[in-house]
Amino acid sequence: MRVLVVGAMGKMGREVCRAVLDDEELQLVGVVDQPRFGGDRDFGELAGLGPVGFPLQTDLLAALGQSRAEVAVDFTHPESVMDNLRTVVDSSVHAVVGTTGLTAEDYESIGGWLNGKPSNVFIAPNFAIGAVLMMHFAEQAARHLPALEIIELHHDKKADAPSGTALATAARVARAGGCSVDVGMEVTPGARGGLADGVRVHSIRLPGLVAHQEVILGGKGQILSIRHDSIDRTSFMPGVVMAIKAISGLEQPLTVGLDKLLGL
Ligand code: NAD
Repeated sequence: MRVLVVGAMGKMGREVCRAVLDDEELQLVGVVDQPRFGGDRDFGELAGLGPVGFPLQTDLLAALGQSRAEVAVDFTHPESVMDNLRTVVDSSVHAVVGTTGLTAEDYESIGGWLNGKPSNVFIAPNFAIGAVLMMHFAEQAARHLPALEIIELHHDKKADAPSGTALATAARVARAGGCSVDVGMEVTPGARGGLADGVRVHSIRLPGLVAHQEVILGGKGQILSIRHDSIDRTSFMPGVVMAIKAISGLEQPLTVGLDKLLGL
């Protein structure tokens, strides 16, 4: 599988490049990022991965054509991802998307773009298998302990709040009957967090954190906490590699969520 990485100089992008280079079934054929990183230097040397034999490119459309990539992996920015995705789909290339901040309307637009196109798009708000299990368990638990809240904790450079994982969890536990108790006056605005699908979500941003989430469910005389911690960005890579390998065989043109690949 010929893989191109968009956002290759970013924290996640570099890790994806490393995972692709380490996998015998995958071939890194192109890397794209913003012009501020541009130049003729070998990308691998620029990114500290060892020589790869080609430079970083800044024009996604040209890079897709030149590299003859079969799949593009996007870990960029909520403001860039839709334009990138449009370019990838219009180039008849498959896309694996980890960039967060996509809305239900965005999913609808992507579904429209895919009409009549040979590309498949796979999007996961969280590629860590443990985090996907955490969401799955939280959904099951919400059927029995419906009073719940979500705390998500991320590094201080994260562009969006709440996290895509928290929003996806809120939607899933809400469908299972979960909701937050809405009582009491907010003395300080925001003290009760944000409301997503009737579920209170609290976003913590601190240096030193990577990606963490806890779903706390309360019942009579008991508390159940379901927590997942990504302590290193390598935690996302088995999921990303799984999606790259599965993308050409997906039954639907647009698939959202790693749980679909795990058979949950
Ligand atoms: P980062 O800021 O370190 O890297 C983003 C990179 O994208 C930067 O190098 C930036 O220059 C580049 N970029 C931005 N716009 C671009 C464009 N139009 N074309 C090419 N390159 C562009 O951020 P990060 O920590 O690597 O996170 C990237 C995204 O991945 C975020 O949305 C984050 O929330 C998400 N994320 C998802 C998961 C998951 O499992 N789905 C896990 C971690 C992070």
